[in-house]
Amino acid sequence: MKIEGVGIVGAGAMGNGIAQTAAVAGLNVVMIDVTEAALSKGVATLISSLGRLVSKGKLDANARAASLARIETSTDYQRLVDVDLVIEAATENNDLKVRILKQIEAVARPDAIIASNTSSISITALGATLADPSRFIGMHFFNPVPMMPLVEIIRGVRTSQAVAEAIRELTVRFDKTPIGVKNSSGFVVNRILVPMINEAFFVLAEGVATPDEIDAGMKLGANHPIGPLALADLVGLDVVLSVLDVFLKDFGDPKYRACPLLRELVAAGRLGRKTGHGVYSYG
Ligand code: NAD
Repeated sequence: MKIEGVGIVGAGAMGNGIAQTAAVAGLNVVMIDVTEAALSKGVATLISSLGRLVSKGKLDANARAASLARIETSTDYQRLVDVDLVIEAATENNDLKVRILKQIEAVARPDAIIASNTSSISITALGATLADPSRFIGMHFFNPVPMMPLVEIIRGVRTSQAVAEAIRELTVRFDKTPIGVKNSSGFVVNRILVPMINEAFFVLAEGVATPDEIDAGMKLGANHPIGPLALADLVGLDVVLSVLDVFLKDFGDPKYRACPLLRELVAAGRLGRKTGHGVYSYG
């Protein structure tokens, strides 16, 4: 299964990062979104990200130009007609993703691999909506994609061995490290990370320590590069809350109950960096 052309559906935070990574690795990329405005924003983000890599000496100017030349954008799914792989990285919503997968299936070659970057939706269940679930797989990148070295590769019940191997090889070509994961809510990293962030909100709500002290504690005492509350602000409090709600529903275990303070901040619109205010305030 040779992968040279890749379609990315969704030009948001993850989609444009995946597009950049694929183009730098030498693949031809077509990035799809619903509006030209979303595409332009995605391209602007990846241009500045490539610029940062050049200024840090991690990429030379010729490679930047060549990478950019390999990226096309479109609002037309028809452009996915001859790609070897489509990576779905659109908004996290089950019905939307099912609809998008049907659109991809209608145009992509029957032997093209279809992957989803979903953080919380079952790969087995999404795959079952396709005529051929054996070609469907989870490819879970981390944010920001160009900087984060891990990709969780999630096999649904019906994902074929050949597809899993092809995606593993591609991940290595992306200069990233794959870990193989069975389909299960939150996969490995978020299953461990998100309950830890939730616990930090309980510690904060109980007045055990201030946000700065909680974050300093985990940075200096557990060697984490960022404290859990600062991380929640970075990820988005709404995202953390929705992942916890999915865990609670999927595992039926009360240990995943979201901290009421987290729910309250989300209700107040304090979603973190993206709204200028979460646990911390951002100028
Ligand atoms: P985002 O909101 O930044 O971007 C989503 C993009 O999808 C938007 O540009 C939107 O216009 C586009 N979109 C919506 N409907 C579409 C359609 N029908 N066709 C094409 N494009 C469409 O979201 P994001 O943070 O990039 O997340 C994308 C996916 O990646 C989600 O499934 C999310 O769970 C997953 N993910 C996110 C992170 C993260 O930290 N942000 C990490 C890993 C995985």
